Formats: sequence, structure tokens, C-alpha cells
Amino acid sequence: MISLHDLTFPALADAMSGLSPVHTRTLWRALHREAATDLSARADFLPPLRRWVAEKLGASFFPEVPALAEETASSDGLTRKFLLRLADGQTIETVLMSYHARFTACVSTQAGCAMGCVFCATGQMGFVRHLRPGEIVAQVLHAQRALGEDRLRNLVLMGMGEPLHNYDSVMTALEIISDRSGINIGPSRITISTVGVVPGILRLAEEARPYHLAVSLHGASEAERAALVPVSRRWPLDELIAACRTYSGKTRRRIFFEWTLIAGANDSPATAARLAELLAGIDAHVNLIPLNPTAGFAGTASPSATDFQHTLRAAGIPSTIRQRRGIDVAAGCGQLRAARQ
Ligand code: SAH
Ligand code: SF4
Repeated sequence: MISLHDLTFPALADAMSGLSPVHTRTLWRALHREAATDLSARADFLPPLRRWVAEKLGASFFPEVPALAEETASSDGLTRKFLLRLADGQTIETVLMSYHARFTACVSTQAGCAMGCVFCATGQMGFVRHLRPGEIVAQVLHAQRALGEDRLRNLVLMGMGEPLHNYDSVMTALEIISDRSGINIGPSRITISTVGVVPGILRLAEEARPYHLAVSLHGASEAERAALVPVSRRWPLDELIAACRTYSGKTRRRIFFEWTLIAGANDSPATAARLAELLAGIDAHVNLIPLNPTAGFAGTASPSATDFQHTLRAAGIPSTIRQRRGIDVAAGCGQLRAARQ
């Protein structure tokens, strides 16, 4: 079963062929520009037209509107986290962040995750299922509705799940979200974060997808990385870095490298120096993320983030230490759902 939000504009136009294109545009605007949750009361979408389209599209004639199961906000009010319930009862997390009055949505791409990173609450729960494109789009629309008049500016695929393990649905969703006559978040404001699915990174480069790429590294040697990121055994660090070089060469875009800093595991000056060596020659920016403690992992946040950053800087690698904003709303990926089980 699919929903109206699963369809790109050309797919919707195709499904509605036989009707005047003005109806496709009206429906598209209602779904993606106005973020309508109910089409039945709309004056511009009269019952005969609704019946006609419903008949044509069959079971898929419904907008994707996940129910809000829970909402939490950080004490500084800058981060809101939504636990959304999908039609089959699965729950996923969407986060809305504000930074200098600019708004970023962080969305999930799967319920659960198969990659099993040891420190991640989503990894600890295992894989449940892929999200359909409409279920990804619906999270952005939920965030936009929650914002009211303010406009959503940026999108990061850093919620639950591994985007490149659900490649086709994610690419369809991003086409829908960046459509200029719809939600219209420009591709240069969209970042896909991956644990390092090498074939997916190469495919992004091959297909010249216009989005930014963030790669979660967390280790600068194979052993260090594999201890935290088990899929490193499938796509080893040297292959991953080679794929990043290919991506970088083909797209000419800067790659962001995510690094969750864990005391004693990956925060030593020697590791920082090795990381700088690994990234030499790549247009790279490292995002250092203090570990959010999770129930299934005994590690703690590193106290040496600034030292780590200094070593990188001395080697010419730019980096940012991500603030722990939102930590009090369990803003780490998958942590709200985990807390409610
Ligand atoms: N699966 C993708 C995107 C979702 S995770 C990926 O792994 O990149 C988004 C980011 O949050 C990743 O960099 C991940 O390593 C980080 N992360 C997950 N759990 C965390 C935790 N408990 N503390 C800090 N960062 C965490
Ligand atoms: Fe999956 Fe990303 Fe969590 Fe790893 S960090 S388990 S890839 S969601």
C-alpha cells in the first residue's frame, strides 16, 4: 500500500492523467505546500473530483499523517522531539532544532536499524523495517506544521535508521521534499548521514545526487572502528575512505565526518593524528559529537573534545564540537522510542 505522499510530482501527474493538470497542481500544493492533513473538507477538491482520483489511485488515495504519540522539548526550548506513530503502529522519531532562528528537521529513514553501532539506541533495538518515501516526507511536513509561520530551512537524515540501506525510498523522498513547487528545501540544504555503506556512497557519486554527505567514522583504525561500528567488517575503513575520495573527486563537495567521542575508546591525541592522516587530501569537516549515554552501552562522553579538536586543527582539518543541546530530551538517535518501550 502506498499513500499520496509516496508520489513525486511526475508520478502523481501520471496517476492523474486524463484530468486537467491544474488538478494535479492543486492536489500537490495541498499536500506539500499547505501540509494539509485532511482533503475531505477542501473547497478546491470537490467530491466528484475526489471520487474520481480515489478510484484511479485506489487504496493509495490518502495523505500520510502519522499520529503524534509524544512530544518533548529541551529546557532551552530550542529542540523539540516528536515520537510519531505510523499506520502499522511502529514509532519513529523526528527532531526539530532551532539555531539562530533557523530551523532544521532531523528525520528517520527506518524503524530501527540493522547496522548495530554499539553506542546507538536505534542500533540496540535492531532492524524493524524500511520507511516508505511518504513516511519520510510526512516527518518533514509534521515539523513544518509544528513550526507554523516559520519556514523549515534545513534537513538532515540523522534520525533512526541508515539512509543508504533504504536507498531508493530515501532518494524518492528527497526528490519530493526538494521539489520547488512543494516543500522546497533546496538540495544544498539537505544532508544524508551514513554509517559508511560503501556501495551507497559510490552510487550517490555515480548518480550525481545533489545532496551533502556526512559519513559516521568514529574510529581511525580498523580495530578501533569495528569495536564501535560492526559493519566496518563488511565495508572496511580503507574501502570506506577510498569511496569517500571517489565521491569527493566526482562531486567536488565537502564531506562531513561524524565522530562520536567516547572516553578511552576513540578520543586520544594519537587517534586524532591518525584521523587527520586518513582525511589528508579530502575536502573534509569533522563534526565531533559528545556521546549521549544509552541504556545498552557503558561508555561515557569524552572529556577531551577540545584537545582532540586542537590536534585536528594543527593538522589542518577543520572541525566543530556539536553542542549537547537537546540532551535533556533524549535527543540522541532512537533514545525517545527506546525510553518508551
Ligand atoms: N545511520 C546514520 C544516520 C543516523 S545516526 C549514521 O549512522 O550516520 C546519526 C548520527 O548520530 C551518527 O553519526 C551516529 O553515530 C550518531 N549517534 C548515534 N547514537 C549516538 C549517541 N548515543 N551519542 C552520540 N551520537 C550518536
Ligand atoms: Fe544505525 Fe546510524 Fe545508529 Fe549506527 S548510528 S545503529 S547506522 S542509526
